Amino acid sequence: MKFKVILGDITKVTCDAIANAANTTLLGGGGVDGAIHRAAGPELLSECRTLGGCRTGEAKITNGYRLPVKYVIHTPGPVWRGGSHQEEQQLKNCYENCLKLAAEHGCKSIAFPSISTGIYGFPLEKAAPIAVHTIRSFLKEHPEIEKVQMVCFDEITKKYYENALDG
Ligand code: ADP
Repeated sequence: MKFKVILGDITKVTCDAIANAANTTLLGGGGVDGAIHRAAGPELLSECRTLGGCRTGEAKITNGYRLPVKYVIHTPGPVWRGGSHQEEQQLKNCYENCLKLAAEHGCKSIAFPSISTGIYGFPLEKAAPIAVHTIRSFLKEHPEIEKVQMVCFDEITKKYYENALDG
């Protein structure tokens, strides 16, 4: 299958690009962002410093350095503020803009973490179907992308994405 949900650590995934649930400074943070920076090494932060930050829902690409990927695509997800501040649209934009950048850079495979559902508090039951629908419709239009993996860090998160994928 082209689109898979797996349990794991995204810093260990080998593919063309991984997405990073970054913050708008792009200067590193906690959670998956911290793990990606630690695994990639200090060159990643040096490149991120040249980018001038990134708006919520947009995406910027860097090299992967010591990670087993060519590129890291950084996207600041929305902070959940009750749902009436365009959080759902912004989350959709994150997935779409990462996929667009990946395709523009000739990537055939990309892995995503569960954007915004950690520190940013986006409810998983809403985030998972948004991610799945956005990725699915992009794949329909872009046959050049051969593989997309949702890399879930815990079983509960994985269950939500599997349910969204089956539903
Ligand atoms: P956000 O600020 O966008 O909510 P977080 O990093 O806090 O981002 O969390 C996003 C998701 O990434 C959470 O499900 C968290 O458990 C998960 N996560 C944390 N570390 C890793 C990792 N190394 N690989 C994959 N997912 C991770």
